[in-house]
Amino acid sequence: LIRLEQVTKRFGDNTVLDHLDFSVDAGKHVTLIGPSGSGKTTILRLLMTLLKPDEGRITVDGQQLFPASDKEVREVRKQIGMVFQQFNLFPNMTVLRNITEAPVTVLGLSRDEAVERARELLDMVGLAEKADAHPAQLSGGQQQRVAIARALAMRPKVLLLDEVTSALDPELVAGVLDLLRDIARSTDITMLCVTHEMNFARDISDQVLMFDSGRVIEAGTPEKIFSEPEHDRTREFLSAVL
Ligand code: ATP
Repeated sequence: LIRLEQVTKRFGDNTVLDHLDFSVDAGKHVTLIGPSGSGKTTILRLLMTLLKPDEGRITVDGQQLFPASDKEVREVRKQIGMVFQQFNLFPNMTVLRNITEAPVTVLGLSRDEAVERARELLDMVGLAEKADAHPAQLSGGQQQRVAIARALAMRPKVLLLDEVTSALDPELVAGVLDLLRDIARSTDITMLCVTHEMNFARDISDQVLMFDSGRVIEAGTPEKIFSEPEHDRTREFLSAVL
């Protein structure tokens, strides 16, 4: 469903991704792990079209995302939802409005349809009673649940998760991860996650990709990567974080 071919991304003379190839099959849950600065977040930002690669080719569901026209990019973007470390909710909108905004403006749903969909999602994330609150009135964990509901409201084929629990107080992490485990189990959405939560990665992933210096140095099932890593760098990384 997602394919990166020979993707290179540089910031000045810092080559962050170096002729990277990888793909994610439909419905699979793939987790990117690796040291800070190895380029994991950059991949998600490329898929969100927040950044453009310098070279290479990116397709999602057979549609070209790079190189592509603005119109093609807009079409592909509808298939992709993203949840960020810092929630990034619209602070001046209610929770309900945060969730209904894009389905109305981008997908053309009627306001009633969007509200119905939003209320179902708020129910699912356990925040039905917060529909009329503003983000600042919610805890970090609650804001992140809203951000997850907002991403799902677009019914994306792909959900990108960028260290979604890193900004949360420790006691709020488990609840958000449990919600994501439920979503992984109960939907056919394709997930690409960057996380430092190795237990979560182990639970939800079909495949784990170990990154170092802009390359995938090792890929495999969580059992293989966490129990029998082949590469010294993977072993060093895991012994530092586990
Ligand atoms: P972390 O786990 O710390 O988030 P990461 O593996 O996600 O790390 P990236 O955020 O993808 O790493 O960053 C990879 C490299 O690219 C880093 O060296 C970073 O400094 C650099 N970088 C990222 N964004 C920019 C930018 N907008 N301008 C310049 N350099 C950047």
